[in-house]
Amino acid sequence: MSGKNHHKVIIIGSGPAGLTAAVYASRANLNPIIFEGIQPGGQLTITTEVENFPGFEQGIQGPELMDIMRKQAQRFGAKSLFKVVTSVDFSKRPFTVKTEDETYTADAIIVSTGATAKLMGIPSESKYMGYGVSACATCDGFFFRNLKIFVVGGGDSAMEEANYLTRFASEVTVIHRREEFRASKIMLERAQKNPKIKFMLNTVIDEILGVDENGRKMVTSARLKNTKDGSTEVVPVDGIFMAIGHKPNTELFKGQLNMDETGYLIVKPGSTYTNIEGVFAAGDVADKTYRQAITASGTGAMAAIDAERWLESVQE
Ligand code: NAP
Repeated sequence: MSGKNHHKVIIIGSGPAGLTAAVYASRANLNPIIFEGIQPGGQLTITTEVENFPGFEQGIQGPELMDIMRKQAQRFGAKSLFKVVTSVDFSKRPFTVKTEDETYTADAIIVSTGATAKLMGIPSESKYMGYGVSACATCDGFFFRNLKIFVVGGGDSAMEEANYLTRFASEVTVIHRREEFRASKIMLERAQKNPKIKFMLNTVIDEILGVDENGRKMVTSARLKNTKDGSTEVVPVDGIFMAIGHKPNTELFKGQLNMDETGYLIVKPGSTYTNIEGVFAAGDVADKTYRQAITASGTGAMAAIDAERWLESVQE
């Protein structure tokens, strides 16, 4: 099959998994195209310093790391399309990938659509999203200079965001629903040692309160609920940052690719093979355990190698 919209390999998603797959696939002369999607560069573009990606002794800013990866892939012929995939058809080969205005086909597909921050799901959270409620400290922290902030969650994300937000806020309180933390020891200790960070444990946000009048919308306080005795109190706060985990971006593949009960793609253990031959999955979209940039990159490399070998085997 040929034609301008046919490609040997299409990569859907442009985080560390997708861009590493692109480096490997382009070096294997597979001329991949990458659909960069709604967040080119993925989740690392909304993080600050990445300290644990090997090769960067002094750390590197997330967006810069992703720019480097993209340029590295482009050096070997990978092409980025800054488009959003709206539907896919993996029922027959070549596979079909549609965007709003065009249809593309591919012999092999690498799915690396990542995951997105979860929200608590209470109506006041959506109401004040962007008006005091945020899921991205690096995007919105700046707006809370000398103000009071809550960070919700007890994992590494919550600790990282809390630490980061002390650059701006006068005080950061981590609100966590139990006493034990999911966060790694080093991240937790760093937050505990930070004099600007307080902890409220066994606590959840019951309601976010604010003003919404004459075009003025802002968070002013939150009703907090003790998870042990059910008691509530209203505490003044200016900004609330959600750091309660992520959900995989797999809506597009429902009914086509096998997923677990939480929506993560299922791959054959030790590989990136999905249930459809020729479709491979890499990165957070198929990983609820590690979810690190480096592990995403690792599985991105695996997906490109799997795709290359599979393409060779079907062409024989
Ligand atoms: P996570 O480890 O799943 O932690 C989510 C936290 O949010 C948990 O403490 C959980 O409470 C809480 N939570 C979940 N749903 C909630 C709800 N509806 N209401 C209130 N609290 C809720 O997620 P994460 O912190 O985003 O980390 C994900 C992965 O990324 C981890 O593997 C982590 O190590 C990694 N990560 C690494 C770094 C780094 O190394 N620099 C930075 C960020 C993330 P429970 O504990 O009670 O379930």
